[in-house]
Amino acid sequence: MLTDKSRELWFELGAEERQIVGTLREFLQAEVAPTAAERDKSGEFPFEIVRKLGELGVMGAGVPEQYGGAGLSTRVFTRILEEVGAADGALGLTVASHNSLCAGHILIAANESQKREFLPKLASGEALGAWGLTESGSGSDAAALRTRAEETASGWRINGSKQFITQGSVAGVYVINARTDAPSAPDKKHQGLSAFVTWAGVPGLKVGRKEEKLGLAASDTAQLIFEDLDLPREALLGRRGRGFYDVLKVLDGGRVGIAALSVGLGRAALEFAAKYALGREQFGRPITEFQGVGFKLAEMATNLEAARLLYLRAAELKDAGKPFAQEAAQAKLFASEVATKACDEAIQILGGYGYIKEYPVERYWRDVRLMRIGEGTSEVLKIVIAKNLLARFV
Ligand SMILES: Cc1cc2nc3c(=O)[nH]c(=O)nc-3n(C[C@H](O)[C@H](O)[C@H](O)COP(=O)(O)OP(=O)(O)OC[C@H]3O[C@@H](n4cnc5c(N)ncnc54)[C@H](O)[C@@H]3O)c2cc1C
Repeated sequence: MLTDKSRELWFELGAEERQIVGTLREFLQAEVAPTAAERDKSGEFPFEIVRKLGELGVMGAGVPEQYGGAGLSTRVFTRILEEVGAADGALGLTVASHNSLCAGHILIAANESQKREFLPKLASGEALGAWGLTESGSGSDAAALRTRAEETASGWRINGSKQFITQGSVAGVYVINARTDAPSAPDKKHQGLSAFVTWAGVPGLKVGRKEEKLGLAASDTAQLIFEDLDLPREALLGRRGRGFYDVLKVLDGGRVGIAALSVGLGRAALEFAAKYALGREQFGRPITEFQGVGFKLAEMATNLEAARLLYLRAAELKDAGKPFAQEAAQAKLFASEVATKACDEAIQILGGYGYIKEYPVERYWRDVRLMRIGEGTSEVLKIVIAKNLLARFV
């Protein structure tokens, strides 16, 4: 691996953690990376691979052992996500959203009985997790969501829909964000939102259109439709009306993961381009002897290493229980931007071969493109970063 030596100089994993990441890398390189192109073509969801990842502890990486998880730190989980992303971006999005968003929200907001009910099956990979926030009318402006949950005699009745939900059609557990109460003023629409958790297969929870995408074909993306979805009182996840604060915390954690996934995809592109360039001759010599090619590789490697430092810094702050929203936003912004650039430059280094499907770099580029959009677009992240930054000076 091109980047490993430099990383290990400062990022020391313990022996057990090293073994977890090492075993996983072997599995991913032997059984996942070689078939990623096939899945990109077929769009087939990799149920069998997910089952094996469950056995390896990946589907419950951050879930404490008492709920059946691996109880790993964010530092190790993000390192794992980088490896998954380097092997298969679509699988990386599945692992990231399942862990950080669905299980992540349950870990942040659930009571003890909800944790005992939902986490063991999520952690084993027996049930996949989906997290529904986005709607057709509310993306970046998430608090504008229109899905409503009304209190009934026995619990809650939910009506509305969700858009672009990862694992939307394959999940066993759904976390749904909805409005339960009116805000106190029109500019306070973050008030009055609440979250709910339910198993799949309940009447009133329907899967709508499955989306065809630019990349990440084997990751499932679907609409959810709620038509008089009746849930028991105990389905309320966290405090009524305070859901948006939990959403923000969930997204902070998710962003660290997307940064790591971005670095994984960028690293795969860098490694492929470097090996290709060493073997490609033009004008009677390997193209690596042309400074124009070497400079591209140097920039790709340096930016990806910096992105890794940013995501690990955010991960370590999260593990230490310190505020990490700013660092998570910076890591995701920077990593997704430089990884997209790295995948683009990898195509350039391969020339025409980079543009055809026989080589994987065009897929890396299609896959990585989402990372600047999901869980906060680059523009929204800059708003968050500037706001946090300026708060220090007022
Ligand atoms: C493959 C995929 C998987 C996804 N998975 C999930 C999931 O599992 N769960 C879920 O809830 N959602 C999911 N999403 C939704 C994703 O989080 C949203 O697409 C994203 O937050 C952007 O929202 P939007 O698409 O509505 O874009 P919009 O919010 O409409 O943004 C459009 C453009 O306007 C810009 N913009 C918006 N507001 C501002 C502003 N204030 N200042 C400057 N620019 C602005 C944006 O940056 C963007 O460039 C997924 C999306 C995709 C494509």
